[in-house]
Amino acid sequence: MAESKHYKIIIIGSGAAGLTAALYTARANLNPLVIEGTQPGGQLTITTEVENFPGFPKGILGPELMTNMHKQVEKFGAEFLYGTVIRADLHKNPIELDVEDKIFTTNALIIATGATARLLGLESEAKLIGHGISACATCDGFFFKDKEIIVIGGGDSAMEEANFLTRFSKKVTVVHRRNELRASAIMQERAFNNPKIEFLWNKIVTDFIGKPESGLEGVQLKDTVTNEESTLACEGAFLAIGHTPNTQIFGDQIETDDNGYIITQGKSTKTSIQGVFAAGDVQDSIYRQAITAAGSGCMAAIDAQHYLEAQEFAEEKKGS
Ligand code: NAP
Repeated sequence: MAESKHYKIIIIGSGAAGLTAALYTARANLNPLVIEGTQPGGQLTITTEVENFPGFPKGILGPELMTNMHKQVEKFGAEFLYGTVIRADLHKNPIELDVEDKIFTTNALIIATGATARLLGLESEAKLIGHGISACATCDGFFFKDKEIIVIGGGDSAMEEANFLTRFSKKVTVVHRRNELRASAIMQERAFNNPKIEFLWNKIVTDFIGKPESGLEGVQLKDTVTNEESTLACEGAFLAIGHTPNTQIFGDQIETDDNGYIITQGKSTKTSIQGVFAAGDVQDSIYRQAITAAGSGCMAAIDAQHYLEAQEFAEEKKGS
């Protein structure tokens, strides 16, 4: 029989949402366990400068911000576990989670598992990822010094990545499937004003050309208006086409929207399951900012705390 340990509250995820939830629940003496996942610190650990998190007039590096948050949480006694939840039974009372060979049970659960970068789903993409194709400019940009690069997408991430990549590359071409960008005005302006960035409008990538041994050589493109096909030589391709919420592990146990984002009730972080709360990008397809993730982490902690108090009160009443 696998080892089992019980907590009043468990938080899955250690990004801005998970760590803020941990901070609040730890300060409320709930002794939370944070199951960190395989990328402790979450998406901000693969970001460079964060200029829009209040309190840092000079900006702060994403990894530094997350290290600071982690230290702050540790100070209040939260426990951390490096690992991934491989099975979750959300309808059991208490809730049951398997992390590798250990079983954890909890009265309240905060899901803060975030979201993962989306890929195009092409066979050639699967072969060349890590060999010229990447979904993280911050992680891999350095490897493309003086090389021609494309960025696929038209949102804020695509603009941010394109701008960042011009630090290394002589030319960055943004390939976008429409003729207007989804990115915010300020991000568009920065990209348009960057002389190293060019735009290819109304184009989708239909194939990646190259071999894992020798790397990416180019992409096959199709015009979304004329259907005309063309090729573009490049040695690096960065995908910035959005994210998928990390909810697969919960299957159909919890209510999600059509894109897999957990649905929360009204102005709360309550989910369709009693005692289960959701915070951060896993339940937010609109704002997806570090500060909104942190804010919802705080809300989830308070919601969970109120839930546990109500449970305890009900138990006491039963006993008296
Ligand atoms: P996004 O806003 O969803 O943009 C995704 C882009 O990829 C869109 O332009 C979309 O095209 C394109 N796309 C999606 N699927 C595609 C496919 N299969 N083939 C080709 N193109 C495809 O995602 P995001 O840019 O990652 O931004 C997500 C959120 O994070 C946003 O709220 C954004 O504001 C925020 N964010 C903020 C910052 C910042 O403020 N510093 C930085 C990054 C992200 P269409 O436009 O045609 O749909």
